[in-house]
Amino acid sequence: ESSAKVIDGKAVAKQIRDEITAEVSKMREAIGVIPGLAVILVGDRKDSATYVRNKKKACESVGINSLEANLPEDSTEEEVLNYISGYNEDPSVHGILVQLPLPSHMNEQNILNAVRIEKDVDGFHPLNIGRLAMRGREPLFVPCTPKGCIELLHRYSVSIKGKRAVVIGRSNIVGMPAALLLQREDATVSVVHSRTSNPEEMTRQADIIIAAVGQANMVKGSWIKPGAVIIDVGINPVEDASSPRGYKLVGDVCYEEAMKVASAVTPVPGGVGPMTIAMLLQNTLISAKRMHNFE
Ligand code: NDP
Repeated sequence: ESSAKVIDGKAVAKQIRDEITAEVSKMREAIGVIPGLAVILVGDRKDSATYVRNKKKACESVGINSLEANLPEDSTEEEVLNYISGYNEDPSVHGILVQLPLPSHMNEQNILNAVRIEKDVDGFHPLNIGRLAMRGREPLFVPCTPKGCIELLHRYSVSIKGKRAVVIGRSNIVGMPAALLLQREDATVSVVHSRTSNPEEMTRQADIIIAAVGQANMVKGSWIKPGAVIIDVGINPVEDASSPRGYKLVGDVCYEEAMKVASAVTPVPGGVGPMTIAMLLQNTLISAKRMHNFE
């Protein structure tokens, strides 16, 4: 029985973080500039607080400065916008990240639009997304999770050009930009979403599948073409009596089944997740270099 290669996102992310650490210290020594990332967290969602804490820790581990604005749930949109304009003007800040989701009384579009595109390290500003979609145009930043997916394909020497790729999910933050990136790499891309009938007919033709759905184990072994490469973005808690927490995290792809059919598969956890943070650090470094004309 064949078994696919495990795409080790944790190891690749570690390698990228080591590269970033070296570049950050080189920049500091050469021109005295330390890249800085500002994170804005509104409210007290536990998951958001955990993500923000992990991003801060990751910054520290590579020598990037991190600033944090922690605003109460009942803040006004104007207060958040004030923080953003402060960071927009602050020369020690090279990247600004607004942790989503925002409280429901705020207009997410207004807030994301306010981030200076030169500091939009999440790549969610419509100008950056628009440029990503256009031929001959270059975004200043590419969204971190889809960028991490493509980086994994590159580092595992998976060829993309001319291949059939299926992206499952079309969200602004993962599915849509992942499809745009694959197309920029000359794949022939189909996008499957909640209104697609018989999604398995599409996925069975795919040489590369990127799954970003939020449905535990949705993609079965029978959905996968033998030898395909599977990038699983999903992070879904499922009950697990044997775990002390009472739950475990699984992807959108049934991992055991995929391992029997595919040629390479990302695990959950330890696949795309660590890459997302590594790409955020990389985008912050890219921004600092660009602002200071370094290299
Ligand atoms: P969203 O909920 O914003 O989008 C989900 C997408 O999946 C939508 O486009 C939806 O279709 C589609 N979808 C939902 N159900 C089905 C179905 N049954 N069949 C086909 N398509 C379906 O989620 P995100 O894109 O934000 O996140 C997706 C997953 O990735 C989540 O599990 C999330 O936790 C994880 N994630 C992981 C990250 C990481 O760093 N590893 C980062 C970000 C997210 P429609 O548009 O029609 O509603």
